[in-house]
Amino acid sequence: MKATVITIGNELLSGRTLDSNFALLARTLTGAGVRVIRHLTVGDERLGMLSAVRAAEIDSELIVLSGGLGPTADDLTREVMAELAGVPLAEDGELAARLRARAASLGRPLTAVAIRQAWLPAGVARLRNPVGEAPGLWFERQGRIVCALPGVPSELAAMTRESLMPRLRARAGALAAIATVTLRTLGISETVIAQRLEDDAIDLTGVELAYLPQTAGVDLRVVGTGTDAAQAVARVEEALVARFAKVIYARGEETIEEVVFQLLRERGLKLAVAESCTGGLVGYRVTRVPGSSEVFVGGLTAYADAIKASELDVPAEVLATAGAVSAETAMAMAEGALGRFGADVALAVTGIAGPGGGSEAKPVGLVFVGLARGGGASRSRRLQLPGDRHQIRERAATIALECLRRFLLGSLTESA
Ligand code: ATP
Ligand code: MG
Repeated sequence: MKATVITIGNELLSGRTLDSNFALLARTLTGAGVRVIRHLTVGDERLGMLSAVRAAEIDSELIVLSGGLGPTADDLTREVMAELAGVPLAEDGELAARLRARAASLGRPLTAVAIRQAWLPAGVARLRNPVGEAPGLWFERQGRIVCALPGVPSELAAMTRESLMPRLRARAGALAAIATVTLRTLGISETVIAQRLEDDAIDLTGVELAYLPQTAGVDLRVVGTGTDAAQAVARVEEALVARFAKVIYARGEETIEEVVFQLLRERGLKLAVAESCTGGLVGYRVTRVPGSSEVFVGGLTAYADAIKASELDVPAEVLATAGAVSAETAMAMAEGALGRFGADVALAVTGIAGPGGGSEAKPVGLVFVGLARGGGASRSRRLQLPGDRHQIRERAATIALECLRRFLLGSLTESA
């Protein structure tokens, strides 16, 4: 089944509201095997809405509208749906009674504007709204479904889940079998991945492989549709894992901090962090994971050299000779945090986030990650990260966590 999504609202066209309704609808429909082939955004204006639906009718079996179902003068979806269905607007007695009862229970008069909400296309199916007053609308004509949902995001989400998708599921043949898997990677670029897949002539028949770059790392999403979808996706997943096992940190939606949390918990290890250029980002991200107190003892933001020396016991001569941004300092910070916090494993980050502070020998984006654990050799890793200050800090935090993952698995190599 092919679908067009039409989102309605002047605030979407002016850029004041981000179109999250489209994202939700597209994700939900795509995940159920519907092919979303077009997205149109139109203002609160009758002709724009009509022409968008007419354009969609050419090639879409499903047309979903969002917004404009309310009672105010700029809400035109009820009228346009009536015009498209070829029926007049008529008062829905049940809805009018409900609106009256609600107004009475709140001790408010029911305004003429509010009652307009009950004027709906005659004979057109209503979709129950579990969280608001305005019902959705649904009619079918010449094998096409036209469906209107409210614009308020919480109402749209509830109705997509509870009304739209069950109705589509009940229609034989509307939803295709779909299988999908996401493999999340860190430390390899999309072009290197693509090159290796080409070199090895990986068979991608029956699936779509999407490269989804994140602030740090690339997600690989494999999607198959049709009766053999699950087998095709499994075959490609196996081929990807065989080649990229080391850089794949998660399967599905899991974040790097969740993966690290799991590893620490399984091993019964306590983590401490010492951060310079990331300013607490690593600690923030680890403690975002529910239950992190089981594995995280604490962290220190040691920005000034004096604090690195006094609170983390980084030797003064290391700071003087190797410098604050160096492999030696990163390892000394990790060792200091390990001892001071009584942790089993410690992660440290020091680097130059910019825009100032870089030099030829130590340019902006140079970051060292240090790792230490009780009774084992400390490790460091040198990174040269691209981007502005914000991106460098985010990337440093993510890759530091990835270094920790590999350190815990015993596969952290000394250099990048
Ligand atoms: P209401 O009954 O509240 O008027 P409605 O169905 O008429 O609802 P709109 O008036 O179009 O919907 O939008 C209501 C609010 O929902 C908007 O102010 C906007 O904040 C939000 N909204 C509408 N469309 C979208 C969208 N596509 N993405 C995100 N938010 C949206
Ligand atoms: Mg409205």
